[in-house]
Amino acid sequence: MADTLKLVKKISRLAEGKKNLRLMEVCGTHTVAIFRSGIRQILPENVELVSGPGCPVCVTDDDFIDKAIYYARKKNFIIATFGDMLKVPGTRSTLAREAANDARIEVVYSPLDCIELAKKNPRKSVIFLAVGFETTAPTQAATVLTARAQGVKNLFMLSAQKLVPPALKFLLGDESTKVDGFLLPGHVAVVVGADAFNFLATDFKIPSAVGGFEADEILTALKSLLEQIDSGQIYVANDYKSVVTNEGNLTAKKILAQVYEVTDAVWRGMGEIPASGMKLRDEFAAFDIERVEPVELDRVEKKSACRCGEVLRGLVKPTDCPLFGKACKPLHAIGACMVSVEGVCAAWYKYGGEKFNF
Ligand code: SF4
Repeated sequence: MADTLKLVKKISRLAEGKKNLRLMEVCGTHTVAIFRSGIRQILPENVELVSGPGCPVCVTDDDFIDKAIYYARKKNFIIATFGDMLKVPGTRSTLAREAANDARIEVVYSPLDCIELAKKNPRKSVIFLAVGFETTAPTQAATVLTARAQGVKNLFMLSAQKLVPPALKFLLGDESTKVDGFLLPGHVAVVVGADAFNFLATDFKIPSAVGGFEADEILTALKSLLEQIDSGQIYVANDYKSVVTNEGNLTAKKILAQVYEVTDAVWRGMGEIPASGMKLRDEFAAFDIERVEPVELDRVEKKSACRCGEVLRGLVKPTDCPLFGKACKPLHAIGACMVSVEGVCAAWYKYGGEKFNF
């Protein structure tokens, strides 16, 4: 507690006399940790924390959900997914609704579980919904390599893995983005390394700091951001050195490079961002369900007052959405940001996001 108070005092001193500062976290785990610990409320009046596109479920677009539903409706498929994906709305349905209508949908805790699932169901095709960032993609890549090594031929991936650095580049290239510094995602940085974010300092002159997930670790990273803003010396601070190196996890990076190639990807709220996704290399095309059995989507325009896309870019607060806390609640979510436990709307609903007036 003593350290916490010292950090808050230091941040307050550094923020004194400054304009309003907007610091963005881009990791769903940070979002929840920040809300749970009350950090937003104890920061000085002119320091605002905003949430960015850091929740992998939230940034997964409607098309991906529609594709998953397309396969789920076919009798010979089993959809395997993390539980968070079940209630994410596509344009017309959710996987949870499809499960109630007899689709076979299995919740797994690791993509590696899908190997056993495929072996136990040799007459079915198992499709794993491969969403996530650099953090989870190495295990998904390992699953593909293991399936190939074990001769498992009825396991496929529906891929929507995303890369965080290009999304930050996209945000900074958009003039509507108002961010004075980034709290960088500790888990992603473990894999890609702190150096992967050097472009923030060199190309955009934006302060950034890699942070851990305890309250004091987050405050330490926020203090680094304020120090950079105060001194004008901009760099990538690594405040999570116990697990994050400059170069990242070379083994994980090697397996990613072996299995995936970089591709353009569609993000909810941001559209297509160049070189921000991963797809299976041609060598692994037999595991890519979209190449084995291409999807035929009957696209419809979705009409919704949901402002998830703007929330994910830090342009509006969840409470600016007319549905927040009324039609849209965690048990009856209208948008992806309320579905996931790491979603910013869910965090606002559960913990409250407004600052206290001391
Ligand atoms: S409160 Fe619900 S409907 Fe509104 S932006 Fe968030 S997820 Fe979308």
